[in-house]
Amino acid sequence: MATNRTFTMLKPDATAAGNTGKIIDRIIEAGFSIKAMKWTQLSKAEAESFYSVHSERPFYGELVEYMTSGPIVAIILEKDDAVASFRELIGATNPADAAPGTIRADFAESISANAVHGSDSDENAAIEGRFYFSEREEA
Ligand code: UDP
Ligand code: MG
Repeated sequence: MATNRTFTMLKPDATAAGNTGKIIDRIIEAGFSIKAMKWTQLSKAEAESFYSVHSERPFYGELVEYMTSGPIVAIILEKDDAVASFRELIGATNPADAAPGTIRADFAESISANAVHGSDSDENAAIEGRFYFSEREEA
């Protein structure tokens, strides 16, 4: 995956609240284009694997339980400087700290149920995108 790509998931709080369309609109309006997208659900083993980098953190168990509590939308996105640009669009992890107008400020329920995931590096964007999509599924 090229370095102008990033990966996002619209999390279970966003799908449950019916916010997926609104969030995708925000993402497209911010200049990202969709390269692959699917509505799916994580098993416990898949969520543990996806978030294995956090396995020693105190919130890991709660995070895995939350991420398996409902459907998610997995999306590969493209834009110049995609990783940093997308992190700016979504705002801080804790919605209480997220800048006004960011997706988390407007849609997140809590630090755990915070509406969207955003990759933190080009390397992780590629790994996370490939977790959900094969090479031929990327448009
Ligand atoms: N998270 C949590 N409690 C915390 C920190 C993080 O439940 O104290 C959850 C939250 O859903 C977050 C995810 O774990 O999005 C991954 O954490 P990270 O620090 O990577 O935040 P992000 O990169 O998503 O902003
Ligand atoms: Mg992170």
